[in-house]
Amino acid sequence: MLRLSAGNRKFLWLGAILLGSCFLDGCGSSREVQEDVPKHDKITSSAKTTKEPAKPSGERTKVHYQKDPVQNTAKKKNIFAGEPHIEVVAKKPLVRKPSTEFVKIDPVALQKAGIRRIAGKHLTLFTDLPQSPAVDELPAVFDQAFGQWCEYFGINPAEHDAWHINGFLIKNKEPFERLRLMPLGNLPFKHGYSQSNRLWLYDQKSDYYRRHLLLHEGTHCFMDTFLGGCGPPWYMEGMAELLGTHSWKDGKLELNYFPAAKEEAPLWNRPKIVSNAVAAGRLRCFEQVLGYGPTDHQVNEPYGWCWTAAVLLDRHPRYHERFRALFKKITDADFNQRFKQLIGDDWEDLQAQWLAFVADLEFGHDVGRTDIQLSPSEPLPPEGKTVRIQADRGWQNSGIQLKAGRKYRLRGKGRYQVADKPKIWWCEPGGVTIRYYRGRPLGILLGALYPNQPDKNTNPFEKPFAIGLETTFTPRVDGMLFLKINDSSAELHDNAGQLHVRIEPAGNGGG
Ligand SMILES: [Zn+2]
Repeated sequence: MLRLSAGNRKFLWLGAILLGSCFLDGCGSSREVQEDVPKHDKITSSAKTTKEPAKPSGERTKVHYQKDPVQNTAKKKNIFAGEPHIEVVAKKPLVRKPSTEFVKIDPVALQKAGIRRIAGKHLTLFTDLPQSPAVDELPAVFDQAFGQWCEYFGINPAEHDAWHINGFLIKNKEPFERLRLMPLGNLPFKHGYSQSNRLWLYDQKSDYYRRHLLLHEGTHCFMDTFLGGCGPPWYMEGMAELLGTHSWKDGKLELNYFPAAKEEAPLWNRPKIVSNAVAAGRLRCFEQVLGYGPTDHQVNEPYGWCWTAAVLLDRHPRYHERFRALFKKITDADFNQRFKQLIGDDWEDLQAQWLAFVADLEFGHDVGRTDIQLSPSEPLPPEGKTVRIQADRGWQNSGIQLKAGRKYRLRGKGRYQVADKPKIWWCEPGGVTIRYYRGRPLGILLGALYPNQPDKNTNPFEKPFAIGLETTFTPRVDGMLFLKINDSSAELHDNAGQLHVRIEPAGNGGG
């Protein structure tokens, strides 16, 4: 029986990434260039071990800084021969030591090429862009991000003052190519790219998205150098999207920020990417997101799905703790299996949470208020039943099983609040017709049937049926009845009150 060493397991992912990281739309990343890992570690062999086996994640208290791969390769292959203005400096030639090594580039050559250097504590940025506050502050942004990455992954930043990477922000790639500053092997990329402790970005049309891209690639660099890898594509890109999505106000950075409106994050647009995909019939069930391969991120849509998975897991109270611990499995080849083990008996619940989340995904989505419960449900009693629904929450389980082919009468009753500005908006189950949300009156009572046998290609929360004051409903399959009022998942906080829904058999003795 083959048993993979930690290093070998890591390379299964790294090898996969190598295959697929060349033409990425959102970013590319390559963590396979690690000169300090013996080549034979790439072989799946039970006999070989790495030069330095990965420690159990819980013991990973000290990061081993890795040599800059470009610099390292440059020394071996002398790729800078004939270009004496580029000098490779290695103050400490040992690998896996706190990095004081760096590629020193002759300032005269840089100046001639129109490239300037903006120095920060953890990032030195080389760019051909002219001076502007949004560009010149990027190393300071990165330095703030470093502390937040450390906090997220439980690392003491004080022990890693020396951690430093080089970044290249590019308008015109020609001078960077001339100075051999592009990625090793000249791998093409569309927007951003990272290799261990280096990253590259093409300039973007929005200040927000340029920063996002820097933080996205920076997350890859951080995870790679501190955690020893980034995991399978869904986790690697999901984490980079999660920790790259940010708020930057008055010189203060907040990573893992959920933009409340598209204006807060110009060009980022992940919620819209997912809702457009759902509307176009390209629903991805959770399992499909986990199964993204190394070549799937050549277009933008998978970045939307991966961010959505990460943000749900990170913010949902039921999964938060387990998701935050997941990075400890990052070098495991069976990472996805480990993830499923962590979720355990909540796997079915997670599938349902996912469907409800993606069906109603909005900027500023209130994850806490849209939590759904797959609590046990029971058949409708012959005399019917009345259930109570909160106006300030998303889909709520009625606790009632409906039978396929039976006809039910559903009636809503009550008065509740659906907004509080400029004054309280009162509403009844028929909704208010002066404001619409997703084509229906705001506040109208809606229903959805979650099948007992879910179909992975169908999202029961995507096209709810309107109940309003009264309707009849005949389900096509057996399932649980869910109810809510029609409102944006980002605007539930200003709702209040409740309504009552009466569910009765309708003329055929149902239940
Ligand atoms: Zn990426």
